[in-house]
Amino acid sequence: MTAQPAVREFTAPSIAGPVPGPRSAEMLERQQQRESNARTYPRHLPLAIEEARGSFVRDMDGNVFIDFLAGAGVLSLGHNHPELIGIAAEQLGKFTHGLDFPTPAKESFIDAQLSMLPASMRDKMKIHFCGPTGANAVDAAIKLCKTATGRGDIVSFQGGFHGSSAAGMALTGLVSQKAPVPNGMPGVHFFPYSYCSRCPVNLTPDSCTTNCVGFLENTLRDDLSGMALPAAVILEMVQGEGGVIPAALDFVRRVRAVTLDLGIPLIVDEVQTGCGRTGTWFAFEQYGIEPDVVVASKALSGIGTPVAIILYHKDLDRWAPGAHTGTFRGNQLAFAAGAEAVRIVRRDGILQHVQDRGAQIESLLKPLEALPWVRQVRGRGMMWGLELADPDTGRPAGDLALQVQEEVLQKGLILETGGRGGCVVRLLPPLNTSADVVAMACRILVDSISGLMESPGV
Ligand code: PMP
Repeated sequence: MTAQPAVREFTAPSIAGPVPGPRSAEMLERQQQRESNARTYPRHLPLAIEEARGSFVRDMDGNVFIDFLAGAGVLSLGHNHPELIGIAAEQLGKFTHGLDFPTPAKESFIDAQLSMLPASMRDKMKIHFCGPTGANAVDAAIKLCKTATGRGDIVSFQGGFHGSSAAGMALTGLVSQKAPVPNGMPGVHFFPYSYCSRCPVNLTPDSCTTNCVGFLENTLRDDLSGMALPAAVILEMVQGEGGVIPAALDFVRRVRAVTLDLGIPLIVDEVQTGCGRTGTWFAFEQYGIEPDVVVASKALSGIGTPVAIILYHKDLDRWAPGAHTGTFRGNQLAFAAGAEAVRIVRRDGILQHVQDRGAQIESLLKPLEALPWVRQVRGRGMMWGLELADPDTGRPAGDLALQVQEEVLQKGLILETGGRGGCVVRLLPPLNTSADVVAMACRILVDSISGLMESPGV
């Protein structure tokens, strides 16, 4: 069987008229009539998409955009990577859905995933295949740790995002999503995260001695804290949806130290940061820690065929057969593509490329901090955010972020927003985006923000 990839190669954005054009507008209108009120992305990115290739997508009106949303960080090797399509197409003709039976595609996938762990962890970890979403894998991690410890409470962090399932949402900071759904998973305790641009304990990095984590340490060790020892602590190394906030080094190390000391499993949610996004295969490697559980999903297959896993320490493997079942845990296309994606990441030096592009993005966007409304430009590897805030009041400038999103879209660049009040403009490019395309995208962003700063409304 031969694959039929999109034949068109795109090298630059090209916008024919106002976005959305007439064909996109018509489909968006139909979508609005027929699809759920809970739909999200097309509300601020009004596109109907016809095809895509590499770091570009083309809408129904022939407009070509640089895609720095990349399926919410899923398309790590770009849209329609020809080698991934080839291997998935080959697998399509053999066997597609395998529940949790062993198969050659699955074995290659497991070999590839374990081989990407730091050497010291490879022999200690087991893998569980979850239902094919990040949220489902988060659920699995929580169930595993509750079962293994016999405890019921979980520590999560303010600003964190762990998915939209009932448990994922309970662990997530996003109050507006939780508020309309009473009686969520009980026993979740939120602690301050090292969000230094808006310090949760009102200190500054030069004088703080990371007091945010001190509060967690004191609480966990205090016999009058009111909180029983938790079953797990769940943490993102870089809060993604929360506004691209890399955790401080000292913060993560001390979370690991206190959890190790007290025998609390540490779950690192690498759904967004994993698979090379921050310049190492997993972001936790940059902190010199070993988590007990790693949650991974989005970019595992490289082409968006869904798959989600937890990698966890063998000592935790105390749950019963069938403890976390699910029909869709055996997507052979995802396994075949995922093993190939790891091979390509190694062959093409993608992790080094991500580090280099990260340095490039930093050098191109950091100067924007000189503008009064740009509070901070921050990120790691190919995961960047620009936090916008009112320079007088410090209030998050979500409206301005939306204006930036709209402005860059009209110039051919797709970006997402996030963070408090949606005030962070986020970049999640495919990891193999070329230096030229990164430069093009950053130029559009810099020009758009600079232009908006000069306009009377700001
Ligand atoms: N955890 C993190 C850190 C995420 O960024 C996301 C998705 N943005 C999830 C969990 C949930 O993944 P999914 O949408 O696949 O359920």
